Amino acid sequence: MKRIGVLTSGGDAPGMNAAIRAVVRTAIVNGMEVIGIERGYQGTLDKAFRPMGMRSVSDTVQRGGTILRTARCADFVKSEYQDVAIANMREAGMEGLVVIGGDGSLRGAQALSNKGFPTVGIPGTIDNDLEYTDYTLGFHTACDTCLEAIDKIRDTSSSHDRFTIIEVMGRRCGDIALYTGIAGGAELIIIPEVNLTFSQIKKELIDASHKGKTSGLVVLAEGVCSADELMKYLQRETKLSVRATVLGHQQRGGSPTMRDRMLATQFGYHAVGLLKKDIGNRVVGIRKEKIVDDDIDEALALPHKFKKELYKMANVVSQ
Ligand code: ADP
Repeated sequence: MKRIGVLTSGGDAPGMNAAIRAVVRTAIVNGMEVIGIERGYQGTLDKAFRPMGMRSVSDTVQRGGTILRTARCADFVKSEYQDVAIANMREAGMEGLVVIGGDGSLRGAQALSNKGFPTVGIPGTIDNDLEYTDYTLGFHTACDTCLEAIDKIRDTSSSHDRFTIIEVMGRRCGDIALYTGIAGGAELIIIPEVNLTFSQIKKELIDASHKGKTSGLVVLAEGVCSADELMKYLQRETKLSVRATVLGHQQRGGSPTMRDRMLATQFGYHAVGLLKKDIGNRVVGIRKEKIVDDDIDEALALPHKFKKELYKMANVVSQ
């Protein structure tokens, strides 16, 4: 391939810039040109294309967000718009594409691949909800951001003998809640993968108070219910002092951690290595500390795995 495109799509994640940088520089070193596509798939329809030189990605490795911007593009799920995107990219001389984004964005990459446009996906989402890879880009940074908040909330919670529910992101995958709940020493972790009723949650907290805990943290994934709803229930049904805090979009931002910068760089480097060999229709990931690539159809068809052992451990160490 002589010229490839790169875009970021869907929810932004810390480390996307480091991945763009790795894609651009690896491609140029390998004799390819790179076109940056702005605002995700919308940019493929609007022809929002800009050539990316070596220096276009200077001073970006440490920056959160995405210099290419990101967007959601409802039209792109329709076949006819995907055809327009391919025609536009071909017209601009692109022969392959790197897509950096979450589950939805990688499904867009799959659609392009299935229509014969060689595309490689990089898992860029804080949610860690892509099964073929142990970690997605941005997850570590988002967890560190949550932890910083959780530690601070713990200080005030314990000073006031209070139980605080902390709502974090995660609609169908509870990994942010699970990992930060463990690392933040939560009394209880509530995630979509485990069906806990409100009365079971109440019992857990009352048991904790009977065991001598005068305060505690409950980390709740947004996909289960709202922190406010649970707080009101517990205030009504128990004598405990309960508060709720919702962590919002700060989870998406900030400077990527060392781990995310490494992942981003390895993913970007590996993705371009595939396109260089004319290999598309793949997603890159990391398993057991090794960078891997998988068939895009197979990778996206894997069912959601629940990290049962981690959840079991969390219940033991929170006693
Ligand atoms: P994320 O990539 O973070 O999961 P979304 O689910 O919003 O975010 O997806 C981002 C974009 O990817 C969508 O706005 C749409 O343009 C594209 N997309 C999502 N699902 C599909 C699909 N099934 N087929 C084609 N494109 C899709």
